[in-house]
Amino acid sequence: MAPKASNKINRIRTFALSLVFVGILIMYIGIFFRTSPIIMTISMLLGFLFIIASSGVYFWIGMISTNTVKVYCPNCNKITKILGRVDACMHCDEPLTLDPDLEGKELDPKYNRKKMEH
Ligand SMILES: [Zn+2]
Repeated sequence: MAPKASNKINRIRTFALSLVFVGILIMYIGIFFRTSPIIMTISMLLGFLFIIASSGVYFWIGMISTNTVKVYCPNCNKITKILGRVDACMHCDEPLTLDPDLEGKELDPKYNRKKMEH
């Protein structure tokens, strides 16, 4: 079974959110090493880096959001954002495409990388 397709922007958001949690977790672990200033400093810096990285990812989402196309999902009748040629609906994970050539075909991530030759 292939993994269920999900919306790209949603996936990146989940990734950014998990970076924040990892950063907080690392800083929290650092508190347990109060007796060792070196370990505590390293874990604080590492946790801080993770949080910086996640804000970078959030910034990146903002940048790529300008390239998305808003469409009505035929499956759930909600407005969703499509990134690239093929993407899944943000609400119901219905595969959607902007390319009429690919309509009705299986959602495949390779369509986003390779330009189809005719
Ligand atoms: Zn939908």
